[in-house]
Amino acid sequence: MNIILLGPPGAGKGTQARHLVETRGMVQLSTGDMLREAKDSGTEMGNRVAEVMAKGELVTDEIVIGLIREKLEQGAEGGFIFDGFPRTLAQADALGELLAEKGEHLDFVVELQVDDETLVQRIVNRAEEARAAGQPVRADDNEESVRIRLMEYYKKTSPLIGYYHAKGGLRPVDGLADIGDVTASIEAVLA
Ligand code: ADP
Repeated sequence: MNIILLGPPGAGKGTQARHLVETRGMVQLSTGDMLREAKDSGTEMGNRVAEVMAKGELVTDEIVIGLIREKLEQGAEGGFIFDGFPRTLAQADALGELLAEKGEHLDFVVELQVDDETLVQRIVNRAEEARAAGQPVRADDNEESVRIRLMEYYKKTSPLIGYYHAKGGLRPVDGLADIGDVTASIEAVLA
């Protein structure tokens, strides 16, 4: 089974993806994590990506589609969870084509619904907790970048809700519920 977790920054996509990895042996493909790795590589591409990410803007479709293409080649018995990808219509089209080339398809698009102020609060709190614990804080987890990330989401990613609604398979889930309840709702969709 292949699924997308769709939702604005801070909606809990990563948390829910990790749960599905543990319970179902699915493979999480987080383009955010992949890009942070590329950034840490210190290459010229990595440095360019780092600047764009710190501001809260989207990295080019070409780069992220390339990253996903590589991972899809490796296959996943338990299926893939796309987390933070696709984020644009071009990425959504590319994903459909890449899966079709492998004789695969998307089963569900789980849309985590949350409200904006909760998101900003969640992310700012996450950064404060990390700072207090002496852990590294993401360069884009500050209020200014979060607001840009949200705007990028509404401009470029939220059209995917209509896109997947029309294609079929869109499943809205209340992302404001407790983590365990969100997990249960997702399990119910996948059952
Ligand atoms: P969040 O969902 O909390 O914003 P991510 O880790 O998914 O965090 O993404 C962090 C940043 O990485 C994004 O703001 C963007 O700059 C970049 N990024 C991640 N995935 C994509 C993508 N599919 N397309 C373009 N940029 C991306």
